[in-house]
Amino acid sequence: MQFIISLIQNTAILLSFSMLYEYYWIKLNQRNLKNDIITGTVISIAVSIIMFTPFKFSETIVFDVRSILLSISGLFFGFIPTFLAMLTSLVIRLNMGGDGVYMGVAVIISSASIGMLWHYYRKNWEEQYFIELLLLGITVHAVMAFCTIFLPSGKEMDVLKNIALPLILIYIPGTLLLGTLLVRQHGNYLNRKAKEKLIETEYMFHQLMKSKNIYALTLNKQFNIYFANEHLQKSIHLTKEELLNNNFESIFLQKISDEDKRKKEVFFNSALISIELKAAFTTLQNKHYYIHWFITKTFNFQNEHNGYIVIGVDETERYEAEKKLNETHQELLAQYEVYKELNIQLTEAKQKAEESDRLKTMLLSNLSHEVRTPMNAIIGFSELLRKDIPNEKRKEFSEIIFKSSQQLLQTIDDIVLISKLQSQKTKLQVSKIKPVELLKSLLILNQHKIQQPKVEFKIVFDQAHENIIIETDELKLTKILSNLLKNAYNYTPSGKIEMGFYTEEKHIVFFVKDTGLGISDEDKPYIFESFYRGKLSKSFAIRGIGLGLSIVKELTQLLKGEIWFESDPEKGSVFYVKIPTVIAIQDNKNNDSIQKSSLKLDDLKNFNILIVEDEFLNYQFIEALLNPLVKQVDYAQNGSIAIEKCKHQSYDFVLMDIRMPIMNGIETTKHLKQIHPDIKIIALTAYNGETTKEEALQAGCSFFLSKPIYLDQLINAFQQLIQA
Ligand code: ADP
Repeated sequence: MQFIISLIQNTAILLSFSMLYEYYWIKLNQRNLKNDIITGTVISIAVSIIMFTPFKFSETIVFDVRSILLSISGLFFGFIPTFLAMLTSLVIRLNMGGDGVYMGVAVIISSASIGMLWHYYRKNWEEQYFIELLLLGITVHAVMAFCTIFLPSGKEMDVLKNIALPLILIYIPGTLLLGTLLVRQHGNYLNRKAKEKLIETEYMFHQLMKSKNIYALTLNKQFNIYFANEHLQKSIHLTKEELLNNNFESIFLQKISDEDKRKKEVFFNSALISIELKAAFTTLQNKHYYIHWFITKTFNFQNEHNGYIVIGVDETERYEAEKKLNETHQELLAQYEVYKELNIQLTEAKQKAEESDRLKTMLLSNLSHEVRTPMNAIIGFSELLRKDIPNEKRKEFSEIIFKSSQQLLQTIDDIVLISKLQSQKTKLQVSKIKPVELLKSLLILNQHKIQQPKVEFKIVFDQAHENIIIETDELKLTKILSNLLKNAYNYTPSGKIEMGFYTEEKHIVFFVKDTGLGISDEDKPYIFESFYRGKLSKSFAIRGIGLGLSIVKELTQLLKGEIWFESDPEKGSVFYVKIPTVIAIQDNKNNDSIQKSSLKLDDLKNFNILIVEDEFLNYQFIEALLNPLVKQVDYAQNGSIAIEKCKHQSYDFVLMDIRMPIMNGIETTKHLKQIHPDIKIIALTAYNGETTKEEALQAGCSFFLSKPIYLDQLINAFQQLIQA
């Protein structure tokens, strides 16, 4: 009876130990010295109680279950707690003394050590805990049986016989039982923890679903909605009925990018667990939403895919703000472009203003000299003409006066043109021309100015180019070439001048070559600057104002071309002008569209011309230009005189000033056209305003020229009107 009570007592201690384990030690999951010492102390107390309440099998054979507790402690708690418990039991056992003291000590040390060794060397023992615990029990208690050798001699076999059965029936199953209990309790504890975590997660998920910041939905495998949080229903004004059991895709993924479409397909057909999509949709109330969706596949406990969890972040406001920002950005960019353009224009205007300022300064310092010299000659020789002088001298003086006037006119013309080119935007008037004809007519037009008998002149071009046509501004090109030609004549006292052209892909290159004075290396960098005159021109007393080449350069730039030259003071100079153009071959059958520069100087000799001009000086100027070339130049001081004159005589051309007193040019033109509908009237005006040109053309003028008038322009106008 005493034995059974002690047995129950020992079992109760072991059980309470196992309960303590659950409620206290497994919570002390964290292993540190303090926890180990606490654990060791508790085990020591348990082992002490066990040792003080042994169960006596007989008066001499006393049992306790310390071997079970110590080995299980070694297995579960490792070195420090078990070592403490082992020390406590050793102290108690040594104090008890008696025959069995050595065996008792040996059992304490061996069972604790085997438990600890098991702990360190069989780390995964819990995977097959039943077998492991059985083996541990067998090992510990086999060693215990072996420990009987430490009993006083003669008693070993006796004791062994007595304890053999309890060892097998009580100790080994006891170890197994206590170990299993602890393992189960640990398992239960973990399960309880997992459950708590699950409930916590579920609660958090519930809160997430209720969130007022995000949209939360759950979908079944077919992508149909079976839950949608309140926030979603409220914000997008959809009722539960409108949402539940409806397809998520058809409501919310109305507009998605192609890339997101592809992503979605891959998501559906692969093992991919989650995706992000950005989608726009419009509600029945015509409200637009932009949502960032996070879709995750869900799985049941058997790991079968059973639906989806969808979280949506509303980015409508951000999207709208970004859109607005983008629009503003675009507006700013456009504005920036406008400012940039304005800035360019201002810079150009500033450069032009500076250039024009520079020009003005240069002009003032040059003008007095350049104007005074021919003026002095004109006044001086006119004065001499008034005196009684022989006829021969008279002719010589008038020649000087004529040349000086021509020079003066040229100077004024050049000054007006360069300041116009450098200060205003000049429009291009592109037409089709034949380069060969252009060169020939240039020669004709300049013939009367050139009187250098010692100079031989030649037009040079490839015969294959005889009939080519180019598209460019004829007047500007003519001015460029005539300036170069004039220089060639001026700077070539004797020798040869060649003028010609050749083509390069989509370009035509004109050249003017002379064997004249050439240009010194010193002068080369400056000859295109306004008012710059080379040293030789001064020392050879060649008249000029230094504007010819700057005009050429400006005009070439207007035609988007390039100009360059090669010059050697011993050999002469070649000037090249390369301009981009469309090059075609003239179709002989159909050449009406091309302006023929075929007007011969001799043709002009048959023309009767009437000049209607209130300023007598202007009349004199035009008359001086035309008189040497045409049959007759007539003069009308105002509109009514002009009408009278036209009634009695027929004119090939009427040059009509627009601004006149009594009857202005517009009125006069209208009247004249009524009397002679075929009469060809060329309007001449000091204004460049488009309205005047419009008005003049509407009134019946056939051509419009702004002052100052150049002979080349006049001839060009005659030519075009004849062909019309
Ligand atoms: P200008 O002839 O009135 O002096 P340009 O601007 O036409 O003014 O020419 C500038 C300078 O370039 C001239 O003064 C002259 O020194 C030099 N130059 C131009 N063309 C030739 C040429 N064909 N041969 C030699 N020198 C030239």
